[in-house]
Amino acid sequence: MIHHERLRPSSHDYPADEWNIIEKKFNPEFLAQLETMLALGNGYLGMRGCPEEGGPNAENSTLINGFYETRPIVYPEDAYGFAKTGQTIFSVTDSKTIKLFVDDEPFWLPNGKLLSYDRRLNMKSGTLDREILWETPAGKQVSITSRRLVSFANRHVAAISYQVTLLNAAASLVISSEMAAHEPVAHTNSEDPRQARVFAGRGLHPRTSYANDRRIVLCHATEKSRLTLTCATDHLLETSCQHAHKVAYTEDFGQVAFTIEAKPNCPIHLIKYMVYHTSQTASVEELCGRAEWTMDRVVNQGFHQLLASQEQYMDDFWRRSDVRVRDAREDRTKRSTVEIQQAIRFNLFHILQASARAEDAGVPAKGLTGRAYEGHYFWDTEIYVLPFLTYTSPRIAKNLLTFRYKMLPQARAHARRLGHRGAMFPWRTINGEEASAYYAAGTAQYHINADIMYALRKYVQATGDESFLQDCGAEMLVETARLWLDLGFNSDAKGGKFCINSVTGPDEYNTVVNNNAYTNLMARENLRYAAQTIDSLRAAKPDAYNALAHKTALEASEVEAWLRAADSMYVPYDEELKIVPQDDSFLDRETWDFKNTPSDHYPLLLYYHPLNIYRKQVIKQADVVLAMFLLGDAFSPDAKKRNFEFYDPLTTGDSSLSSCVEAIIAAQIGDMEKAIQYGMAALLMDLADVGGNVKDGCHIASMGGTWMMLSYGLGGMRDHDGMLSFWPRRAPEDNAILRFPVTYRGQMLEVEIGQDKVEYALREGECLVIRHETEEIQLTRERPLAVRPVSVW
Ligand code: BGC
Repeated sequence: MIHHERLRPSSHDYPADEWNIIEKKFNPEFLAQLETMLALGNGYLGMRGCPEEGGPNAENSTLINGFYETRPIVYPEDAYGFAKTGQTIFSVTDSKTIKLFVDDEPFWLPNGKLLSYDRRLNMKSGTLDREILWETPAGKQVSITSRRLVSFANRHVAAISYQVTLLNAAASLVISSEMAAHEPVAHTNSEDPRQARVFAGRGLHPRTSYANDRRIVLCHATEKSRLTLTCATDHLLETSCQHAHKVAYTEDFGQVAFTIEAKPNCPIHLIKYMVYHTSQTASVEELCGRAEWTMDRVVNQGFHQLLASQEQYMDDFWRRSDVRVRDAREDRTKRSTVEIQQAIRFNLFHILQASARAEDAGVPAKGLTGRAYEGHYFWDTEIYVLPFLTYTSPRIAKNLLTFRYKMLPQARAHARRLGHRGAMFPWRTINGEEASAYYAAGTAQYHINADIMYALRKYVQATGDESFLQDCGAEMLVETARLWLDLGFNSDAKGGKFCINSVTGPDEYNTVVNNNAYTNLMARENLRYAAQTIDSLRAAKPDAYNALAHKTALEASEVEAWLRAADSMYVPYDEELKIVPQDDSFLDRETWDFKNTPSDHYPLLLYYHPLNIYRKQVIKQADVVLAMFLLGDAFSPDAKKRNFEFYDPLTTGDSSLSSCVEAIIAAQIGDMEKAIQYGMAALLMDLADVGGNVKDGCHIASMGGTWMMLSYGLGGMRDHDGMLSFWPRRAPEDNAILRFPVTYRGQMLEVEIGQDKVEYALREGECLVIRHETEEIQLTRERPLAVRPVSVW
């Protein structure tokens, strides 16, 4: 169901461009949205797109992935096993502020006379660029250009190149480069559970601060999570104008103020380097030392080098990942094509920014673009983000799966707390502990175990990384399979079938249900993959098997039991409707009164008591429909159509995780109108603020879903049976040509789906076997190209 009509048409203030997100006018009403959209990040460090002057801001956050504080979760009525400790990411020392004063007149966007204004997120170079021509009240024209980057190559480093030139007069300038440690008060709507908590009191406690020439170092620590943070800045000023500087600092603040006698047309160029280091174990001295080493290196290399490495990183990323669209009529300037191309790149770029250097961390639901969802990691990573990374940047995918593996001890303890064997991954977390304060729509989502194992299998299949499977994957498989076996039981009431009761599936509008179909189907996969992996390990690598069996006290009989449970898994089916009911009681419920629900009462969770929602047939996000995508070979085309047509009208799409999946299934069943409607909603989720909350951060899962929509949905990609397959279908009136690369087992394939043909080109590698529809095709270095007719709906 599509009911959100918030799409803001792009106006001349935001012209479409294939490689840039451009802002041509400073519009205070879009401040918060633009801060999110123009945020920079590298998966470790993130800075919202606030202006250099330090304001105006909606939320001036600098975020470090996994840098959080804990707080007690207070329940009015507590119960055994509830998560007791909340974890909240919070804003660290802000270092990007550069204030400008011309003849003591502050440059301030809202009241400055701007003769020209251009700010752009440059997705080719990985920078945020701004060019402004400001006329002071005294009529002096000042050109201000800046380029900001958060480095991919050096994950601890950010930098700003800031240039000021007086055009028509001389003036006395002050450029004040500042850093400040404070937890900004967020504009929190306490009724909205998706927003981050605000801490009372201070979050960052000073440890040390000092300056050395134009370098300032501030070190802070959190109280309860015991994390230490060092932020250092250093400066280089290049100009032939006469200048001096003063350095000042306190425990929470640092400032290098340059006073300059600016001559007309004489550029003043400031480079500001920013370095962040964090640790749970290093001493204050050591952490400051690390920051200084990093700083020495980048200052030595210079901004040009940083920029060059950023551009190289981006080139490499786009080579592996760019999805291109063009119009078959070769009308390259066609506005809609440019807009779509821009939106595609925007989505892919933000996934990279959320994940690239997330080493020893996960991908927060909002990446590092905002603090909503408290910087927590959810299943979003494995089901929505990992497919893109697995097929374009497998190294990053591996880091994220390794991070899950390292959580296994806490996942085991979590399972024990809930009285289960095996391991239970937390529904939402930063440090590995469950941080969900509402179990019904949180901890009860046991499916996260199966989601992680699903992503593992996709990763192993696509990369052939058997050693990861052996070293980390197998142990996770044993523990997750154990959990399912312990959680479910063979129910007499269901003819002895294996049932899983009292869980919540992906759809958070139907909680604590019996036999959620998605959960049962995904658990079945999890059990089978575990059994298959252990069996092959036993046969092929007896030593590794013995080590694993020893470590996990695994018994051969367990593996048989997993298979029995999988084979007898109960999957709800309604003979009359010929659909898979979402859970045992879903069909007993009364349909939600959609007709009398005002359009401004979505998302329902902000306007109706959960009980009113739970007792009705109404769906927050794709659930059975998601299962039909993830386990596509378990559903016939007819079944997909019937189920989609049943569930689609009940699905509000109140979660941004829904549209992309609905688009994929709509495309698979040939409902191209819906595919495009949903597809555009997913594609523009952030760029057009479809959900109305982009101010709180980007919807990273939907961004990953956008890639899936293009590759699996429109590209007809399939990978269920271990072979990379394509079954693209085109609507007769469709003029778009879609091209995307896929990395498979270290080789790079490029797929181009045109109006009447599809081309498969092996761009890198020796030999790759793929399937087109039912035909196997071998691409080799000698014969790298295969062209086949494309089927039309
Ligand atoms: C969705 C979850 C998702 C979370 C974080 C919720 O609104 O229902 O499925 O994991 O947001 O994105």
